[in-house]
Parts: sequence; C-alpha cells; structure tokens
Amino acid sequence: MPSVSFTTSGALGKSAIRQANERLLLDSIRRRPGISRAEIARQTGFSRTSVTFVVNRLIGKGLVQEQKSEGPSQTGRPPSELRLVSTAMMAVGVEISPPESRVVLVNLNGETLEFRSIPWKANSDVLLDEIKDAIRSLAGGRRSRRIIGVGVSLPGSVDKSAGRVIAAESIGWFGIEAGKRLSRGLPWRFWYDNNANLCALAEQWFGNPEANDFRYFVCIRAQGGLGTGVVMDGRILRGMSSAAAEFGHVMLYPDGRLCNCGNRGCWEQYASDAALVRAYRERTGGSAVAGTVNVTNEAIRIVDAALDGDSRSLEALRETARYLALGCVNLIAALNPQAIIFGEPFTRGWKLIEEDIRAELRSRVPPYQLSGLRLIPSRLGPDASMLGAAALVLNSFFTRFDHGREPSHPRKSSGVLMEAYR
Ligand SMILES: [Zn+2]
Repeated sequence: MPSVSFTTSGALGKSAIRQANERLLLDSIRRRPGISRAEIARQTGFSRTSVTFVVNRLIGKGLVQEQKSEGPSQTGRPPSELRLVSTAMMAVGVEISPPESRVVLVNLNGETLEFRSIPWKANSDVLLDEIKDAIRSLAGGRRSRRIIGVGVSLPGSVDKSAGRVIAAESIGWFGIEAGKRLSRGLPWRFWYDNNANLCALAEQWFGNPEANDFRYFVCIRAQGGLGTGVVMDGRILRGMSSAAAEFGHVMLYPDGRLCNCGNRGCWEQYASDAALVRAYRERTGGSAVAGTVNVTNEAIRIVDAALDGDSRSLEALRETARYLALGCVNLIAALNPQAIIFGEPFTRGWKLIEEDIRAELRSRVPPYQLSGLRLIPSRLGPDASMLGAAALVLNSFFTRFDHGREPSHPRKSSGVLMEAYR
C-alpha cells in the first residue's frame, strides 16, 4: 500500500490528499454500514459533489458497494445505501503469548475469516518461526495482494517501531528481536505494540460502543501476568521508552511476594491469573484443577467452577478480586480515568465480583474520584489483544497515519481511537 507522503513544506501532496479523503469516507462507511452520500456529507463537512466524486472512485476500486434503499428521501429519489466490500482488503493479527500464540485473518469489518493457534515453545526462535509459517499460510498465495499488513501483540515492554521485546519478565524474554525474525522475507508491512495497549485499541474498535468515546480509560489484562493499557487524553500512555503504565509492577506490599521483575509485593503477584490459581491452590492443599494444562486455562476453569457454586473457587476469586480493587485504588489516584475495563478471567466472573470491587473502592477512594467512573467487563474475552493487533493494521488503513506521524487529515468527528495511536 502506498502511504501518505508529506511535501518538504509539510503540506500534503495532491495524491496524498486524495487518498486521505478516501480513507475518511471509507471510515464513515465502516462505522455506519448503509449510510447515504448525504449523511456522509453531513458527518464530514465535505460538499455533496465531493462525496459523490470520492464514493464513485471507491466503488470503482471495488472497496464500496451501493444498494438502492427502500425508504423515501427528501429529493424524491431513493438514497443509496453504502457498504464496504468487506473482503476487498484483509489484515492479519498476531498475539504472542503463552500458552498459545494465535494468528487471525480479518476482513475490513474486523470479522474473523481464518485462525491458527501455535502452542508455546521455550525456544523463542522456534516459536517465532512457527508463527511466521502460520502468517504465511493465512496471508500468502492469491490473497497476498489484498493483505494490508500484519499487526503483532507482544508481551512486556516493547520497542514498537522494531517489534523488539525489551523485557517480558513473566516469560523470561529480554531483548528478543521478534519483529525482525517474523517480518524478514515477507512482503507485508508489520506493526507492533504491547498486548495491554492493544486491548485498549480493541475495546475501541470492537468492544462496548461507549468505549469509542472514552478519552481517559484503563484496560486490565490478566492473562500471563497483569498488564494495563492506559489511554489518557485520547492517547496511549507510553513514557520515555514505552515502559510506562506497568501498573502490574506497582507495589502493594514492600515485603510482599517476590515478583519476576525483582521487586516484592507487585500488584501482579496478587491480582493476575497466576494469583487466582495460587489463591485456589492454597485452599486445596496445593492441588490444581484437574485437566488443566497451564495457569491461564486453570484460572478460567476456577472462575467457571465459582459460577457453578464451588465454594473454594468462589473464595479464591473473591480474594483475588479484592486485590484487584486495591490496585485500582492506585490507578484511580494516579490517572482519574473515566472507565476501567476488566479483561479475562475477571470478565466471565464479573457478576460474582462486581459488588466486592465497588465496595472496596467506595471505602478507599474519595467520592469525587468515583462519581462518573465506569467499571466495565470487556466483551471481547480472551481475544481482545489479538483483535487489537488486527485493529492496529485496520487503524492505519482507515486513517493513514502511523505511530508517531501526524494525521493525514483533520477529522471532524473523530472517536478516540483515531488519535490513540498517533
Ligand atoms: Zn513486579
């Protein structure tokens, strides 16, 4: 795909403006399937003539289709309903995470077309080569020209321009050049980011519709540790070297449990999937849930057992939820968010823990911080980060600006997500 280019004066070149306008209209159609030309003109502020001109070009390129509407219109002629040709272009999303890494192919609407999973390997080179094979098998061959690119969700602190994992303590990855190994020899553009950040992006693309309007929110991911994706003033909070928002390693107890990061008493040691498993095993004399193969899977089974009324599972879940709330107290004091969105395994057990979490917050957080704060279980389940990786690619297609770049066009009605990845 050609990308938007800037002239030396910083102004957009002519073809870049044309492409930026196309992307803007494509995004209007994506957001409201069935929208008419007149509605697009109202939303974007473009003239009807310009909208018609650009839409016709998009139809000519096979990206948009129109259908006569049944309903009446103000001009007497029935308006056309515009929709994306969803499989005109596709994106690949990759999530690298134990116990299973996953590769998904999605269409322009973000709907899953195909899927592969790759069991975890201790040797990162072997694992990355297997993931690369899966990308090639989903996106190669006749599809190759219709692939916009590949988005990759990585664990830990990440150099997102190169796809390097700087440090992922929970899996022992330090300085792993994942991006280089995955992309070498493949024809597509790659994008990378941290898995919790991509949960935040996924919430805005595919999650609760309200999330699209949040400018200040936190996503909590508790699979393989405790990650937080933080959006502040519409942007992902990154810090000097992309290591910000590691709330999982904010200390709750100075002399507490030893953490993989070298510190003691980190929030992750009390409120992650592993912490839930630990709380459960403390109640069963050390025995695991039968038939589970890894911690993430076992945590989910514990929540399911709690939902079925198993008392030890419920106690373990409630204890973990209380620690979850304690960390949220710190989050709220530091960030004053509009919303905290909880991922798995807490999502599925939400009705068992929501009131405990709210009570804990009420007893510790000043009312002016709590009024207006939304606590929301994610709708995306364990797929959030993988879908966020695919959204990273779609985000570039519909808006044509990338990490660190200026936007290619001013957006009249932008949701947060368009800005979040500037
Ligand atoms: Zn730690």
